[in-house]
Amino acid sequence: MPHHTGAILQRDGKTFAVVTRVPGGFITPEALENLAAVGRNYKVPMMKLTSGQRFMLIGIPEKDLAALYRDLGPLAEKETAPCVKYVQICLGTDVCTYGVQDSTGLGLELEKKYHQEEFPAKIKFGVSGCLRCCGENYTRDVGLIGTTKGWSVVFGGNSGRRPAIGTLIAENLSRSDALDLVDRLLDYYREHAQPKERTARFLERIGFERLKSDLLTLLPYIRLSEVR
Ligand code: SF4
Repeated sequence: MPHHTGAILQRDGKTFAVVTRVPGGFITPEALENLAAVGRNYKVPMMKLTSGQRFMLIGIPEKDLAALYRDLGPLAEKETAPCVKYVQICLGTDVCTYGVQDSTGLGLELEKKYHQEEFPAKIKFGVSGCLRCCGENYTRDVGLIGTTKGWSVVFGGNSGRRPAIGTLIAENLSRSDALDLVDRLLDYYREHAQPKERTARFLERIGFERLKSDLLTLLPYIRLSEVR
């Protein structure tokens, strides 16, 4: 259960873990220096990079939480309601020789757009600049994959206790159509999911046929032949 600051109670029942906001895992030297200073000043016993490309500061006593969040500055992220946990982003065409789409630009745009929104359950994004899928998009709630012709969108993946491979919703969309599809999928999920129901369970419950007839066939830019 998150503390009202967003910190997570640890198994010792006394101390908390604080997870930072690091969009896409990109961080400046100045922000890293600030993080190191916070770690030193508060004598944080353990600091860890999470699988979601964020930093976790572990073992914080409750009395230090408010000041530590203040000192983290832009890295502070208070998660007190189900929300977007992170957007996992690969390097894409900025750097990677295999990249065919700008996963960094799209992923950061998605992070900025959704990171303060609430959902029925937590949401994780994965964005990859090519079919090698380093952004692990098939096991994220929403996945975007760069192809030579545009973007493929995947929905309902999960890597947790009951893993699920996301359903490929549409392929080779333009950037703006892919963003629009993500928007509509998340609106539909928010409207129809039960509290705490992750997208994988939601899709299992309602079935892809219902999603298709309720939502996807209404989208003129997705030819039905491209809908799986
Ligand atoms: S998914 Fe493709 S573009 Fe992204 S880092 Fe991996 S190989 Fe490079």
